[in-house]
Amino acid sequence: MKGENESIVKKNARKGPGWELEDASKWELAAESIVVRMRWFGVAMGYILVQSRVALGVELRDPSAVRAFLALGAGYAALDLAFHRMGEVFLKRAPLFVATMESIFIALLCYHDTGLNSPFRWYYLLSLVCCAIRYRPATAWLTFCVHCASLLCLTTILEPSRADRLSVPVFVGVLAWVTWAGSALSTLLKDTGRRLERVNEELRENRAELERRVLERSEALRAAQARVIHQEKMAAFGLLAAGIAHEVGNPLAALSSLVQLLRRRQPDTYSLEKLDLAARQLDRIGRTLRELVDFSRPGPLVEGPVRIREVVDEALGIAKYYHSTKGRIITTELAEDVPNVRAVRDHLVQVVLNLVLNAIDATVKGGRIDIKAETIEQNGTFLVLTLQDDGRGISIADQCRLFQPYFTTKTRGTGLGLYISREIVEEFGGRLTFESDLGRGATFSVRLPALKVEPTRSISVAAEARSA
Ligand code: ADP
Repeated sequence: MKGENESIVKKNARKGPGWELEDASKWELAAESIVVRMRWFGVAMGYILVQSRVALGVELRDPSAVRAFLALGAGYAALDLAFHRMGEVFLKRAPLFVATMESIFIALLCYHDTGLNSPFRWYYLLSLVCCAIRYRPATAWLTFCVHCASLLCLTTILEPSRADRLSVPVFVGVLAWVTWAGSALSTLLKDTGRRLERVNEELRENRAELERRVLERSEALRAAQARVIHQEKMAAFGLLAAGIAHEVGNPLAALSSLVQLLRRRQPDTYSLEKLDLAARQLDRIGRTLRELVDFSRPGPLVEGPVRIREVVDEALGIAKYYHSTKGRIITTELAEDVPNVRAVRDHLVQVVLNLVLNAIDATVKGGRIDIKAETIEQNGTFLVLTLQDDGRGISIADQCRLFQPYFTTKTRGTGLGLYISREIVEEFGGRLTFESDLGRGATFSVRLPALKVEPTRSISVAAEARSA
């Protein structure tokens, strides 16, 4: 977990200036909303001050000029507000220009009000607080210098009394204190905001990672469930087959003995012919039962060299009992020299049987199913077994879902055949693919890594095949 957190922090660090920029613009907008409110507060307070002091008979140098400058201030605040509503900061890139304008504005207000002791001098404080919130400490200190210069000019022009002159350094001290406190506070707030944003981002990434893992696990669970259902089906089928073999096997053996007994009694030609026929049919039933039991009995699950010809033969041997197989033309073209593959034999039989049964289901009476095996060289030697049918084909919409567990278009389908087949093929390092045109059939290909042919072994295998 620690490692993951570190990687997320590293990722954040890698996000670089883009992320910081986004952060900064968020901060600027938040700061601007405070600044806009402070400006409107200043303008409103200014009007109240002028009106109340004129009403109380306080002598101002030029109240109309003060009102005019306040109107100018209101216009500036309105512009600020309009920009803020558009998600922008007015004169964002010219903080020193803004500071100079404000300095002149405040000095003019003080000049036309009552001079150095005018309440409008507190506007210097408001201006510094706004600057400290908006910009870096260095900019706030530069603004402080500009305001000091403005105060100095005012003092020089007005030639105030000794008491008023003495109050100037005290006021400058207050300005310096506000600049320092405002900058420190805003830096602290910016850092905290940045840290919170980072933590937030980490949380978001962790949540996304968690969701991804839950999805992965759910998918794995679904796959495991599909496999279990398939295995249960095979086990139930095995039990059923064994039961049938047992129940049918005994009377079948009795019938066979009876037929043998009757044949030994030298019956007439007609009866002998019929008894031979009965014996052949009984043999057939016996063979079918044996094949059924062999297929359903779980075979050894060991991987070993598997001959694809045997796999295809066994799968077709079982498929012939499928009710729809009749009327389909099934051809096989398996070259003598196709190499063996490493796999669990019974599993491969299952794959080929699934593909054959699907092809039978997709074709109509008289339809063709061609099974071919060939060797290809492509970054190694591979055996490719293709099953091509001329059935109804697969629509584009179905093609996307073909290998999903439980996807079926058959009324009695389980939708597990292709899913399990692909799992099996991939388990042996192979790939199961398909191509299809709607209405023109489908071709499924099983591609498996071929085993190296050992000359002496291959001769003995070929001899075995011929004798069988
Ligand atoms: P099921 O056979 O139980 O439906 P599968 O996973 O074996 O499950 O097959 C899923 C679906 O793929 C089938 O229902 C069918 O619509 C489609 N399909 C598979 N093979 C073919 C084929 N050769 N031609 C047309 N459709 C096919």
